[in-house]
Amino acid sequence: MRSVPCNLCGANDVRTIRGSTGEGRIVQCRRCGLAYVSPRLQHDPRRQYESDEYHEKSQLATGRPGYTSYSSDYPVLYPYFGRIAEEIARIKPGARILEVGAASGYFLDQARHAGMRPEGIEPSKACQRIIRDELRLPVVAGSLEEAAVDPGTYDVIAMFQTIEHLDDPRGGLLRMERWLKPGGLIVITTPNRAGWFARLTGKRWFEYKPREHLYYFDSTTIAKMLESVGFDRIVVRRDPNRYPISFFFERLRRYYPLLRSIVGLLDRILPARVKDLAIPVHYGSMKVMAYRAGITQ
Ligand SMILES: [Zn+2]
Repeated sequence: MRSVPCNLCGANDVRTIRGSTGEGRIVQCRRCGLAYVSPRLQHDPRRQYESDEYHEKSQLATGRPGYTSYSSDYPVLYPYFGRIAEEIARIKPGARILEVGAASGYFLDQARHAGMRPEGIEPSKACQRIIRDELRLPVVAGSLEEAAVDPGTYDVIAMFQTIEHLDDPRGGLLRMERWLKPGGLIVITTPNRAGWFARLTGKRWFEYKPREHLYYFDSTTIAKMLESVGFDRIVVRRDPNRYPISFFFERLRRYYPLLRSIVGLLDRILPARVKDLAIPVHYGSMKVMAYRAGITQ
């Protein structure tokens, strides 16, 4: 295990949010309010995202962190990314856009539909193959920390549910700030630890996964971090989505074992057409937009 100072302000003065479970202790900086994992496991967190299993095997089946099955989330994620791509294309029409952590390329595909020129960075080889061979879009193999990108290359950089996984998010933002053109747009989504579901569930908030999520932002800490690396015009909004009812059953079963029998009962008695209904929910993700300082447009 390794103790780390606050990534936002450099202080070493924390209170404990959740004690160590063997996977790391979740703390909050007393000076700036950033929540993070310290001490944390020594292993390089990037390694786990390179494995194909991270994207395709369930945590319960493999005992490892990851998506339940990224491809089974397609009906939820693909239309969601379509809405975000349209929104970005209205701000930066025809943008040269980079997605960091592109997974199977759902967003890249939607960005192309919205008239932009998308490229991805992705560590998983299986996902690289999908992006390159099936979608026929450019993909840089590797991670944010390793990729070589010329300064001032992109109009937009997008990173969805990824910043909370980085060992050094401020360093990552600094790199992306340089990769953007002056006035370029960054779009980030991440769980909001001040959201209603996080407040309701407290220490049991399902996003508290210290092996995977090393940082837990709220609208203040994410804005401060963006500002500290040279972004301005920072706007934090809600990030709602539509989910089928079956999606909630799966999540509740996985994260809240006490609810397993009641959820199992509902799952058995409800007809499939009800479980397939998509309902709009805002459970506490936030969408952050900011611009590289420079030319205003
Ligand atoms: Zn701090």
